[in-house]
Amino acid sequence: MTAKIIDGREVAAKIRAECRERVSRLNEQFDIAPGLAVLVIGDDPASAVYVRNKVRACADVGIRSTKLQFPHDVDPAVVTKAITELNADPSVHGILVQLPLPPHFAPSKVLRTISVDKDVDGFHLYNVGGLVVGDTVFPPCTPYGVLNLLDHEGILLEGKNVVVVGASNIVGKPMALMLMHRDATVCICHAKTRDLAQFTILADILVVAAGRRNLILPEMVKTGAVVIDVGINRLENGKLVGDVDFEGVRKKASYITPVPGGVGPMTVTMLLVNTISSAERIARGLKPALPSADGETRALEYSEESNGPSD
Ligand code: NAP
Repeated sequence: MTAKIIDGREVAAKIRAECRERVSRLNEQFDIAPGLAVLVIGDDPASAVYVRNKVRACADVGIRSTKLQFPHDVDPAVVTKAITELNADPSVHGILVQLPLPPHFAPSKVLRTISVDKDVDGFHLYNVGGLVVGDTVFPPCTPYGVLNLLDHEGILLEGKNVVVVGASNIVGKPMALMLMHRDATVCICHAKTRDLAQFTILADILVVAAGRRNLILPEMVKTGAVVIDVGINRLENGKLVGDVDFEGVRKKASYITPVPGGVGPMTVTMLLVNTISSAERIARGLKPALPSADGETRALEYSEESNGPSD
């Protein structure tokens, strides 16, 4: 068996074409131009590349993006004040704080300052909680992208054994929750899992997000499994590889994502989708969240005609 290679760039291009149409509709019918604000603290080179890609992707579909750059030693209060102002700015529909933050920041506190209805990364506690009960406002971009890849290939999830390797808050855990809501039977593995292979071998669908090169070898994969490689590892020669032994596993799997060109292009694209969805929600007349006395935000308030956060 040789796996079909899932082309993330091709799927992302289709979704971006839809994004352009949605942005045009917002412009023409509601005079709304979707806007994303990206806050960057410090000068981490990897973050700079990610932010540049996000800014370019926004321009590609007609989203206005604004980058707010802060020095590495900025007072966290300055950043939270900037977020509070962006929360109140009606021209901004999405706010993103590029992670990781310098050590003197408490990331969860900063993320909680973002209004839940502009939290396009989906990292605010309200959105994380929404994920647990199945009605998050913004699904986190990487697992949302994986789900879109699976749907695009017509891979059914109901009743499937899915193993997620990696249990981080931004990839593994939300991925597992999203798959549970699609009626898959989900197992999560992490660095302390004993005998990883005894779990991965049972997977109809294996999602790997550990950041460990060659973690998944062919003998750990069931014949015919769908293998999604989220991992990104840079080799000494500069080449990017995933967590899966691509050449070995592709001979056994039914579908596999490459690195690069698999999940990566989808992550940025889902950020665009979330930002446009936010602008559409406002266009449909949903009320923005109100800042509370302590600078944090209350849950979304929906107008009567809305169907709730997941519509
Ligand atoms: P992370 O926060 O470092 O989490 C890694 C997870 O993998 C942890 O849960 C860890 O377990 C687990 N893990 C580490 N070594 C393991 C092993 N030997 N066996 C089983 N589990 C192991 O990383 P992340 O942010 O989730 O990202 C994971 C990978 O995906 C990275 O390579 C990252 O660059 C990539 N990524 C790609 C995209 C994309 O768009 N393609 C987006 C985000 C991340 P513990 O919890 O026990 O420590």
